[in-house]
Amino acid sequence: MPLLRSWVASANTPDTPFPLNNLPYGVFSTADSDARCGVAIGDMVLDMQAVEAAGLVTLDDDGAFDLPFWNDVMELGPQVWASLRARLTAMLAEGAPEQAELAPLLIPLSAVEMHLPLLVQEYTDFYAGRQHAANMGAILRGSPDLPANWLHIPIGYNGRASSVVVSGTDIHRPNGQMKAPDADVPGFGPSKRLDIELEMGAIVGTPSPFGQPITVDEADGMIFGYVLLNDWSARDIQGWEYQPLGPFQGKAFGTSISPWIVTAAALEPFRAPTPPREKELLPYLNSTVDGLYTIELEVLMQPEGADTATALSKTNYNRMYYSAAEQLCHHAVGGCGMNAGDLLGSGTISGPDKSEYGSLMEVSWAGREPFTLDTGETRTFIEDGDTLTLRGAAKGDGYQIGFGDCTGTILPAVKHP
Ligand code: MN
Repeated sequence: MPLLRSWVASANTPDTPFPLNNLPYGVFSTADSDARCGVAIGDMVLDMQAVEAAGLVTLDDDGAFDLPFWNDVMELGPQVWASLRARLTAMLAEGAPEQAELAPLLIPLSAVEMHLPLLVQEYTDFYAGRQHAANMGAILRGSPDLPANWLHIPIGYNGRASSVVVSGTDIHRPNGQMKAPDADVPGFGPSKRLDIELEMGAIVGTPSPFGQPITVDEADGMIFGYVLLNDWSARDIQGWEYQPLGPFQGKAFGTSISPWIVTAAALEPFRAPTPPREKELLPYLNSTVDGLYTIELEVLMQPEGADTATALSKTNYNRMYYSAAEQLCHHAVGGCGMNAGDLLGSGTISGPDKSEYGSLMEVSWAGREPFTLDTGETRTFIEDGDTLTLRGAAKGDGYQIGFGDCTGTILPAVKHP
């Protein structure tokens, strides 16, 4: 599909993240207005509350956009998602008769503050990157062999929705309990091994009832869209606490997501298959859809006071072993009900080459191999004042589907009495 041309001139350039082909959904406020739903187009945001008030878009649910989240739109279902997208695409297209009415409802992105685009109902994080799992095995257990269940189960744990924050939110270095390998007893204090995880977040838009399993194909149709997701991780806290029930405090102090929900519909031209199965999956995990997407991803680090960020890693979402739809199917298969607004973290995305590793644990090989930033400083893990940014874009023919940065700065730990 080529670039769809819009009467919003800034949406017609090859480097804008938000061409007419994208139309991602966010929540914004201005100096004069409360948070409400908006759609990004070029370097502008379309005020959906105003669009609805002007009678230019009408949904079954009156007032679906006068809210600081997109959950009400999600709950209207895939047919409404499709008709809304078709209506927005038509109204913003070059030559659209609605241009004169819509133009005053555009606000420059530079003048808005972005908020979480959804009410995160629940948050689950997976471990579905094969290279990441092999690297973590090699680092932590001395062998890249995967856990016995890994090629059969999309492994996950239930995280905390309350820990999910929008890009731009500062994160305090967490305090916690940890134990050095040569210490007899644990200690308490700020994490010294603070890390990121480069992930994609899938947002469930259609609920599934309690007690009702779903197929992978059904799960694929339930996904409303995707965001970039940084699953900040305190490796020392995690290392002491994680057996036998999995991560807890080491993952509960902050998870950042990019501010725009890029719809599954916008990503449709970029579908990609999961890699060949190394072990045949059990039949309940079979599907007929290509569940991944080709999305170029990048991790950048910028120390406090530096002029530029250093690229640490570049990889692609199509590296994952399990798709979000497979994860969602597995999540519900025992009867767990899923809700509109549930967020599923993909797991850390790492490619086979060292330049494609999606965590500092891997980039610095657990701190054994420090890396150098463009400023000349070296790092193993994150230091106070560092800003970490995730970027992502699906590259089309003369356009790209961007996500907007997923960024966060680490502040010193809060003093605990
Ligand atoms: Mn994770």
